[in-house]
Amino acid sequence: MSEKIIAGNWKMNKNRNEALDLVSSVLQDLPDTSTKVVFAPPYLYLEEVARMCADFSNVKVAAQNCSHYDKGAYTGEISAQMIASVNADMVIIGHSERREYFGEEELILSEKVNKALKYNLQPIYCVGESLDQRKAEEHFDIIENQIAKALFHLDEESMKKVVIAYEPVWAIGTGETATPEQAQEIHAFIRKLLTDQYGEEIAKSISILYGGSCKPANAEGLFAQPDIDGGLIGGASLVAEDFVKLIEMRS
Ligand code: 13P
Repeated sequence: MSEKIIAGNWKMNKNRNEALDLVSSVLQDLPDTSTKVVFAPPYLYLEEVARMCADFSNVKVAAQNCSHYDKGAYTGEISAQMIASVNADMVIIGHSERREYFGEEELILSEKVNKALKYNLQPIYCVGESLDQRKAEEHFDIIENQIAKALFHLDEESMKKVVIAYEPVWAIGTGETATPEQAQEIHAFIRKLLTDQYGEEIAKSISILYGGSCKPANAEGLFAQPDIDGGLIGGASLVAEDFVKLIEMRS
């Protein structure tokens, strides 16, 4: 069975004090749950956040990106090994903002996935179509391409460690959410791709998260869908009360 996960992607938000306050508030009100809770703060705070979460076995810490290089003369880059060395557990790879503003494509993303796995970081690999692609009814092809090219070189043991997040670009930060039916349709499609490639047992064990304006007001319908295992939350993860509520709703 796939794990339930609520992950907060803070993006480029919060100064250090705000970041630590947010984490303490969430930990203080953390529901008694086996749902995996993930904080993805900016790199700078990873070590401190990981330290704060160390006593909570179901709380994990993720970086928002990692380099596709191993190490060396790559000014400004942060490697998967560095992220692992400050006790982070996971890394978000292929977020649509990385694809759109930093030109990241499948070839590089597949390397990032390899680097994450090499250093025992669990990748949260993001996929999703733009509004134009959906209007042109290309969304299934786009998602298949994003998944196959960046993940299907993995062997079964590696694939089992991957979490997938479906984030329709038109729903990110726009206030517009995919309907539960729209999201379920894509999640079921992703599950089918995984089944065809790796078999049913592995496909069922992989968590597929929904992201895109997910908040307490609309999460109930989304989380009720059979193939939605949790959420990758942007804006609502910056407010402790909302994030805690989402954890409760997914518990
Ligand atoms: P919002 O929840 O702010 O729409 O962001 C979603 C997202 O991109 C999470 O990675």
